[in-house]
Amino acid sequence: MQYIDIHTHKKKEDDNTIITSLYAGYEDAVNLPYCSIGIHPWYADGYDMDRLTRYAALPNVVAIGECGLDKLTTTDWQLQEKLFRLQIALANELRKPLIIHCVRAYDEVLQILKQASVQVPVVFHGYNKNEQIAQRILQVGYYLSFGAAIISDSSAVQQVLTNCPANRLFLETDDAPVSIKSIYEKAASLRKTDTDSLILQLQKNLHTVFNI
Ligand SMILES: [Zn+2]
Repeated sequence: MQYIDIHTHKKKEDDNTIITSLYAGYEDAVNLPYCSIGIHPWYADGYDMDRLTRYAALPNVVAIGECGLDKLTTTDWQLQEKLFRLQIALANELRKPLIIHCVRAYDEVLQILKQASVQVPVVFHGYNKNEQIAQRILQVGYYLSFGAAIISDSSAVQQVLTNCPANRLFLETDDAPVSIKSIYEKAASLRKTDTDSLILQLQKNLHTVFNI
């Protein structure tokens, strides 16, 4: 069965279903089976919303992002907020889900999503925080995507993954030097299920959220 990697910066190289995340070079979107495109808070300088809007309409662009807020980057905070709001509006307009990058800004991200009346599914990618924040995200109906952090047995996020409802869960490699297979195997063992059942569930989630 094919593994599903909903957030990676790699291009397609095997049979697995992947959503390649592009924060620059949007023209590559035409050559990829599925991708998400957005303005990343780290790379906001020289942003071009018109260009993003044009490429975001392509049918194989299945999500907007990664976008969001990051308190550890030097990008101006007002600019980060402005770009995040614009991308929420774009996602609403195109009816495509949002992939969220969030670093030390969960209050602000959740508040802006609410204020901006987000109407599309929202996925917090690379989730690596505590159970309390996870509950706030899940309570409002959003999704969590877990990556390489779950492999480390000293990581508190393993418990969050174990408790995450099956219909709100995704897995990803992002830019980590690990295979999506190893992430599924670890997730399956933590959740006391088998890899095939996990794949079937995540196929359903993929269809619900990304319409793939
Ligand atoms: Zn990423």
